Amino acid sequence: MRPEPTLIASDRVIPNAATSAMDGQIKVDRFKAVWVIGHGLAGLVGVMFFAQWDAALMFLLLCAVTICAGHSVGMHRLLIHRSFDTPRMVEYLLVWLGTLVGMAGPLGMIRAHDMRDWHQRQANCPPHPSHAAGFWRDAWWQMCCVFDLRSPPTNRD
Ligand SMILES: [Zn+2]
Repeated sequence: MRPEPTLIASDRVIPNAATSAMDGQIKVDRFKAVWVIGHGLAGLVGVMFFAQWDAALMFLLLCAVTICAGHSVGMHRLLIHRSFDTPRMVEYLLVWLGTLVGMAGPLGMIRAHDMRDWHQRQANCPPHPSHAAGFWRDAWWQMCCVFDLRSPPTNRD
């Protein structure tokens, strides 16, 4: 029998007395930027010099499996929200598939989700976590930047 989940997303972010959802700034995360841009450029080079239909079909298949089954179902609905129950090995498989998306590991995804969720529940939500910018700016912010709070809340895992 699996133990009951102890914390839900809204319980895992604990603000302190100095925490303000608006008191922060958007900063380039160098590691994240190099990771995302490097993979994007490598993908473009691969498409330009080694384009093949079977490789394109494999790309689509792997995107569907990792993004849909791994990220959406495994990481988000199962690991973060505990929306359903499944045998432990299926959970491990789905979460592992979610890590292949390359956004973060399980704890990093929980923290990122919970912080965005916490921001979006505040009376005022800054433009980075609320996706309030235009498409390209928001894509840049989400893929290559972080919203760095001056006094961030504590994350309980
Ligand atoms: Zn969620």
